[in-house]
Amino acid sequence: MFDLVIRNGTIVDGSGRARFTGDIGISGQRIGVVSPVPGSLTGSEHIDAGGLCVSPGFIDVHSHADRAVLTNPYCKSSLFQGITTVFAGQCGGSQGPVNDAMKERAAERAKRMGVEPPSVDWHSFGEFLGRIEDVGCGVNLGMFVGQGTVRNYVMGYEDREPSAEELDKMRLTVRDAMKEGAFGLSAGRTYMPGRLAGREEIAAMCREIAPSGGLYACHMLSEGDAIHEAIDELLYVARASGARPHIVHAKVCGKQNWGKAPSVLERIEQARESGLDLMFDVYPYIFAQIGTLRGIFTGVAPRLNIGELLSALRGDPEGAAQVARDAETEMAKIDPVRLRNLPQRGVVWCQNTREHEWKSLEEIAADLGIGLIPAVIWLGVENHLAVKTALIMSENEVEMFIKHPFSMISTDASTQDVLEDKSGAGHPRTFGTYPRVLGRYARDLGALPLEDAVRKLTSVPAGRMGLSDRGLLKQGHFADLVVFDRHTVGDSGSVETPSEKPAGVKYVLVNGSVALRDGEITGEKAGKVLRR
Ligand SMILES: [Zn+2]
Repeated sequence: MFDLVIRNGTIVDGSGRARFTGDIGISGQRIGVVSPVPGSLTGSEHIDAGGLCVSPGFIDVHSHADRAVLTNPYCKSSLFQGITTVFAGQCGGSQGPVNDAMKERAAERAKRMGVEPPSVDWHSFGEFLGRIEDVGCGVNLGMFVGQGTVRNYVMGYEDREPSAEELDKMRLTVRDAMKEGAFGLSAGRTYMPGRLAGREEIAAMCREIAPSGGLYACHMLSEGDAIHEAIDELLYVARASGARPHIVHAKVCGKQNWGKAPSVLERIEQARESGLDLMFDVYPYIFAQIGTLRGIFTGVAPRLNIGELLSALRGDPEGAAQVARDAETEMAKIDPVRLRNLPQRGVVWCQNTREHEWKSLEEIAADLGIGLIPAVIWLGVENHLAVKTALIMSENEVEMFIKHPFSMISTDASTQDVLEDKSGAGHPRTFGTYPRVLGRYARDLGALPLEDAVRKLTSVPAGRMGLSDRGLLKQGHFADLVVFDRHTVGDSGSVETPSEKPAGVKYVLVNGSVALRDGEITGEKAGKVLRR
């Protein structure tokens, strides 16, 4: 007699083997038995999965849930799409360790942006994990320690090489985080202050994670023009340190770079042949993080009322030109990376000038016969600032990454408990990533068999992270499960309305507790903090 039996389901067990019909018996937090005989098990409670697929819970290896889980503890956007485990602390930034100087800088930044300063009552990496345990969490959560965070902790935003003493302190900080349960080191090679580190410094950090098999999860130096140089750096760090390299949110951005994906994948294969345990994750969308037009300017003039400014500039071309020059100068100082990427950013949605959607800002400027920044200002005026931009990838190359034998899936998103998108900059991946892989890529495009798709969402990431009792429907494993309809599963969000509940996900179990029932959140916070 089991606590819960999922009956008559089409079992896709995560290993990649062919689906079969059967029952799953759950005792407490774990799977008691997987029976290939439908209707053979009885329990105190039953879920009828007739006609539906049952698979292991999806494992999001690249999540920015982090601090969001403290304020969105039910993790609804994750559960709606079948995610039962997330790995946060990515792109060089983790919530711990944190010191007073960092808290002060964060408070100053919040003041500049006119938002509430974050409340931080923890210090070490491990204390933050404990904080999540206090609040409770809808999904299981593991964390990486961020290289940028560690540098910030020891050196602040100093743009120089560390002294021997500082380097030692950073290494010790990484070592401590690993002891406290980190799954590895993450880097965001284009972000401050992590990008101030050279490759030797990164390799020194990675030497601290190598002995325990931690991953070096790298948001690379370039995902476009200099992607091959970025791979050079990644491979150098891996070879110099012995750490297992992992490329996060793999992509090739910017139209002029489309066509590079095959050579990127070839280099990944070569690196593996040479003995490196290199893999990557990818999200199933052709546009990266969405920014608003307001976002392009906020770095320049956070207190500026852009709306008023733009209306005033209508009919004042000289004033507009001056604003354009000032904006460019300021952006070059504050965020040169953003300025460098600006020409390649594409308009992915706009209110009034729809003929410019899916063009890059550079193309739009050329169409209009004006400069880049004036074109951005023009778009803002014409659309009353209702413009969303993002770096754009090729549909064909995104599919290539998804299908590749050494890829797995991630969201690169946070988690949220509300369905409204207040910022205007939300990405549909927050709600739709996993249903989109199953619906669009596996079913509709036939890019990969269902069994293989499920494997990339479950046992492949579990193996990558060293989770020995998750990611498979197997006796003794934790009962993290998803029940979905393979005929209807799919994402529902768009650039315009990103926060839409996906279709076809019926039940989600986290550690044996029903967290989603008939598509509705039950309010369970059954997730565990995972420590390597
Ligand atoms: Zn990133």
